Amino acid sequence: MNEVLKNKVLSRSFSVERASMAGLQAKMKRTIIVSNRVPSPHEKGATAGGLAVGLADAATPGSMWFGWSGKRALETSTKAEMVTADGVTYATIDLGERDYTRFYNGFANGALWPLFHFRSGLLMFSRPDYEAYRAVNRAFAKALLPLLQPDDLIWIHDYQLLTMAAELRELGVVNRIGFFMHIPFVPPALLAVLPPAAELLAGMSACDVVGFQTERDRLAYLDCAKAFLNVNPDREGRFAFRERQVQAVTTPIGIDADRFTELAERAELTGDAKRLNESLGERALVLGVDRLDYSKGLPQRFDAFGRLLYCFPQHLRKVAFLQIAARSRQEVGSYQTLRRELDRRAGDINGEFSDFDWVPLRYMTHPVKRTAIAGFYRRARVGLVTPLRDGMNLVAKEYVAAQYEANPGVLVLSRFAGAADELTEALIVNPFDADEVAEAIHTALTMPLQERQSRHKSLLAKVRHTTARRFCSDFLDHLNGGVQH
Ligand code: ADP
Repeated sequence: MNEVLKNKVLSRSFSVERASMAGLQAKMKRTIIVSNRVPSPHEKGATAGGLAVGLADAATPGSMWFGWSGKRALETSTKAEMVTADGVTYATIDLGERDYTRFYNGFANGALWPLFHFRSGLLMFSRPDYEAYRAVNRAFAKALLPLLQPDDLIWIHDYQLLTMAAELRELGVVNRIGFFMHIPFVPPALLAVLPPAAELLAGMSACDVVGFQTERDRLAYLDCAKAFLNVNPDREGRFAFRERQVQAVTTPIGIDADRFTELAERAELTGDAKRLNESLGERALVLGVDRLDYSKGLPQRFDAFGRLLYCFPQHLRKVAFLQIAARSRQEVGSYQTLRRELDRRAGDINGEFSDFDWVPLRYMTHPVKRTAIAGFYRRARVGLVTPLRDGMNLVAKEYVAAQYEANPGVLVLSRFAGAADELTEALIVNPFDADEVAEAIHTALTMPLQERQSRHKSLLAKVRHTTARRFCSDFLDHLNGGVQH
């Protein structure tokens, strides 16, 4: 995930209908959210993407958000800096330059990210990187320790912090600890590629609750726990490990669908949306919005668009593909290679199919404002979301929420995105098959209004059901479960 955490909505009204009693109790206790990046209270909604798109609902007044400030210093700080805004305390530490390079670029994004996205060939493992990863997880635990109160619920997020719970236990913390994995989980044969596989699994399993985006991910984790930790999970996904009960749960992340729909409605009236409209004229827009990341399947997507133009020439001059691919992790070599690869493929397609007054593929790598993106989704006849592997993919949900209900566009969605488990009325494709994706784009471009409406109606109902708020409430229900007051 993009690590810039967004602090979008801090104090939403709490929906009693949707929250169980356990959820209510959890809200009464203090929630400590721990994530690699912490949103600055002053950068509300300003930057692209991120894990915390869905976390804002857990950051209710009285809670604390703990993690890295995003700043680099000479040494990793030992004491957190605290700022309170809208009732939420933001507690952050800076990372030492060397720790940042080895922990963040090295182990987290150079080893864990590719492996958990099923790209073992891209994995770069080094012991010093792993040691720095362990050290940063330890530093997080030590800096959090003095801030903890006995009843706090600690909710740790994502692959950068797999061993933090174990470090907290080492320091004597007995609070309920939850961990949520935002990215996919891999089967034992793949996890085995990573030398410290067992240690990482033991780190996660120091929690009381371990959460995943899909059943597939949850089952993969349980298979790994059986294989590496020699435990015996029951049918509910519970197992005993080091005198503690661990429970694995599936709580898919979502968006605030109604707010996103409103944003898209407003966005339509902005200068950006109007400029895009003018440039398109009558042409249908096919849209991709991603971070520039090899998990997103962008070269394959470009190829699929090339196949569309070649196999279905009726779309020549009638369609425009806009790919927004915000640069990320440019310090990691595989991301630089990807960028060059995309430049080349975009050039090939435009060189082959452009006319003097028509460019089929527009490709931009600078970040675009959230409002502008919402307006672009609304204008797009086809939303192209074709990652090779993705934990959930929130772009798919945003695209659905942004559509005109009377005249909606069509979502083309990779079967390897977590979102495909829920959004079954999208056109589901295998992103490795360029011809299948091209056919799906053609089907989307020619789909009758009635079918578009009926697919969209079902999709929208799902996106409105599995919201960000529900995600937080469901996970906190599990985390709070079994605690006696
Ligand atoms: P990931 O977390 O791997 O980046 P997601 O699809 O789950 O992927 O979340 C991406 C979030 O970032 C979405 O809210 C999306 O609107 C936003 N986003 C993605 N790409 C861009 C971009 N190029 N510019 C601005 N925002 C983006």
